[in-house]
Amino acid sequence: MSGIGGITLKGMEALPVEVEVEITQGMFSVSIVGMADTAVKESRERVRAALRSLGRNLRGRISVNLAPADIPKEGALLDLPIALGMLKATGDLTNCPRALYMGELALDGRLRRVRGAVPAAFLAKKLNIPLYVPSENSEEVALVKGVEAYCADSLAELVEMLSGVEKPRPVIPAYIPETLPNVDSDFEDIKGQLIARRAAEIAAAGHHNLLLVGSPGSGKTLIARSIAGILPPLTDDELVETLLVRSTLGMETKPTRERPFRIVHFTASTVSVCGGGNNLRPGEVSLAHRGVLFLDEYTEFRRDLTESLRAPIEDGFITVSRATGTVTYPSRVLLILAANPCACGYYGDPTTKCTCSATDLERYKRKLSGPIMDRIDLKIEVPRLTPEELLSFDNRGKKPESSAVIRERVIKARKIQQERWKEFNLTCNAELPEKLVKRYLTLSDENRKFLADMAEKFNLSGRGLSRVLKVSRTIADLAGEEEILKKHLAEALMYRQNK
Ligand SMILES: [Zn+2]
Repeated sequence: MSGIGGITLKGMEALPVEVEVEITQGMFSVSIVGMADTAVKESRERVRAALRSLGRNLRGRISVNLAPADIPKEGALLDLPIALGMLKATGDLTNCPRALYMGELALDGRLRRVRGAVPAAFLAKKLNIPLYVPSENSEEVALVKGVEAYCADSLAELVEMLSGVEKPRPVIPAYIPETLPNVDSDFEDIKGQLIARRAAEIAAAGHHNLLLVGSPGSGKTLIARSIAGILPPLTDDELVETLLVRSTLGMETKPTRERPFRIVHFTASTVSVCGGGNNLRPGEVSLAHRGVLFLDEYTEFRRDLTESLRAPIEDGFITVSRATGTVTYPSRVLLILAANPCACGYYGDPTTKCTCSATDLERYKRKLSGPIMDRIDLKIEVPRLTPEELLSFDNRGKKPESSAVIRERVIKARKIQQERWKEFNLTCNAELPEKLVKRYLTLSDENRKFLADMAEKFNLSGRGLSRVLKVSRTIADLAGEEEILKKHLAEALMYRQNK
């Protein structure tokens, strides 16, 4: 390797780039070749100013070559290797070990945080060479096991490290606690709603999609938000997947096994939710990967947005493409939808009368049968409690079960699933592909007949049927049962039929 090692990003993957600098006699000029975007081209100004801060004034005709020439290079993360390449070409830097260098330079020579440090860490690990990053990126790099990484605050500091004047500053691997933090919304504060609580537990245990329908004030939003506090911790592999998405977007990362919980507002753009745009960035559905994507006031969402969510919800990944290329991002989410029962909000309410006409109700029903409704496993009504009911819960003096207690059961059920599906590289029942459903979610003759009868009665599609089977499997796992029993099927069918 004659040049300096840098990287560029293709989706969530870091690709090695070699930076070669040549300086010849002539009028001062800097040219950068090798499919560089605007941000890379602007790097000549930043690098020049940063070098000046070290007391180096560039002279001559400088050409910077980014190899390989056939992959597009994006962003400011090549500033650092370009600067090092120039210092090497001028003879100011004699020792520059084979490594990956990444970082954006401020005009005063400080190293700024860049996106993609986690993918870069995986590439460095694969190539078995060290990685040098801005100190601001060290927190996320510390979460990648087994990588040799160093950080610096500025170009000057890095040059001193490489020249042996300063000791290299290693990135210390982060300790990731096994316990999860508490979430503000706790099931302890939710009165009544036994069915919704149960459905939330099943959804969290098997990663099944959930719809909550209820009038304003019924607490459906609170229930949805409380699910954040009963999700099982991320496994090592899942943690890495979520890290890659966040790092690709340049977002901060914390050493935690907490699952993502993303709330999308109905005014959100399709690009912000599904990903894409000029830079092909991941969207909310990928940020929610391995966690929850929550769409409150679902019926307010534009049809084209819910339509474009269908494939990522079903497939567990999303492919976005533009003229600049095609990339795939993960999107294995637990989808939670919340909606009012009708346009006025009070259809079926115990105290307030619904003012919708028959046409209004019909139109609203169509909205609720949108493109992703088929992918919902648990459909629950959340009734608004009357003041008397609320008071009676208080008078009983017994607090509802807390999220921490529910989470213990969820974790236990998830462990059973992880063990069972290990050989297929799956972690929960919801992920099970069709062919494995057929092979592994088997029933006794009697139960098979029961399910077939119910499927006919409720007009269940093949996909609906396999969703019922997966939910039944989770219910059985929560009960610690080896076999899916009739009562598990009956409960799963009940959630399918509600609403
Ligand atoms: Zn109404």
